[in-house]
Amino acid sequence: MPTFPKPPSPIQMLDLAVQHAYIQPELDEALRRVFDESAFIQGPDVADFAGELGQYLGGAQVVPCANGTDALQLALMSLHLQPGDEVIVPAFTYVATAEAAAVLGLRPVLAEVLPHTFTLDPAAAEAAITPRTRAIMAVHLYGQCADLTALRQLCQRRKLALIEDNAQALGAVWTFPDGTAQAAGTVGEVGTTSFFPSKNLGALGDGGALLTRDPARAELLYELANHGQARGRKYVHQRLGLNSRLDTLQAALLRVKLRHLDAWTDRRQAVAAYYDEALRSLPGIRVPVRQPGSTHVFHQYTITLDQQARRDDLQNYLKACGVPTMIYYPRPLHQQPAYEYLGYREGQFSVAETLCRTVLSLPVHPELSEAQVAYVTKCVREWTENAAG
Ligand SMILES: *Cc1c(COP(=O)(O)O)cnc(C)c1O
Repeated sequence: MPTFPKPPSPIQMLDLAVQHAYIQPELDEALRRVFDESAFIQGPDVADFAGELGQYLGGAQVVPCANGTDALQLALMSLHLQPGDEVIVPAFTYVATAEAAAVLGLRPVLAEVLPHTFTLDPAAAEAAITPRTRAIMAVHLYGQCADLTALRQLCQRRKLALIEDNAQALGAVWTFPDGTAQAAGTVGEVGTTSFFPSKNLGALGDGGALLTRDPARAELLYELANHGQARGRKYVHQRLGLNSRLDTLQAALLRVKLRHLDAWTDRRQAVAAYYDEALRSLPGIRVPVRQPGSTHVFHQYTITLDQQARRDDLQNYLKACGVPTMIYYPRPLHQQPAYEYLGYREGQFSVAETLCRTVLSLPVHPELSEAQVAYVTKCVREWTENAAG
């Protein structure tokens, strides 16, 4: 019976209890205020949060909604597409990106991702364009931007809308070759984000938002998220919409958390830098490759192994050592039962398929202690030594 080391203190994939303990008085005060005001739907905190997040993102318009999946659907609804119109989606992403298009009767057209940055390959996206293509959905996976210079240029050249699924990279910044910098999610026609509790800015429940630099589109998105009702015109429904609102309670809590987001991002980046240093030279392990032009807010710290058997073996070893890990994502979109109707074959997106077999995300949240991070890297190193010997 082999013996495994023990962590200095229990390690979680994310540790919201600890995060909340640090800011409990501020959260309590926000809760109290919502009770006092008792405006649980579209209370003042919702607009205040939207304004503060917009400022944080360099002056973007923010339209809060119920969750990140609704945000994607609302973003597509704002483009006035026809059933059967095509939307290009990376083959390697969370299912919501394609789902939002599919439930609207649009056709998600999958495109390959880049092997090192895991984000949409602009050349593959271009190759997937047909006369029915209307939009490209870029996903800023794990916390850094897809190649926004190439994708924006492609969309402008081919007259397509660019939608940024920014559920994982809130606070990341893209710098264009001319030196202008823009917050992730505010580059395309519409950006979306999610406040699912595990996201970098997480609510205590579901939440999401739409991001745009265009005030007219922000107004349209607001209507779409509120039963198609124009602002201030109760019971006049201009268009078909959804009931997709951010609760006042969540907005109040998110206002508190937004004030801490930069400090938390710094911590994530410090943990990532430590991992980089400690893991970079280990045989058979590739640390995350940074996309030039983007900052990285490390929603996930995802290493890749050279083969599935080694990835699975490392995951089991770490589990035995008390180190949780996750596989985001174990199955590419074209191999999901619900998307069989799209007619793709195994092998058609070989980069996405290989990533599903070889990625492994390590704990990277802001509450990790230095001793915990050191312990994680020690375990990974020991595994490589055992595997070699
Ligand atoms: C979390 C996530 C979503 C969905 O957000 P919800 O708020 O859970 O609906 C969409 N896209 C990506 C890439 C995500 O990580």
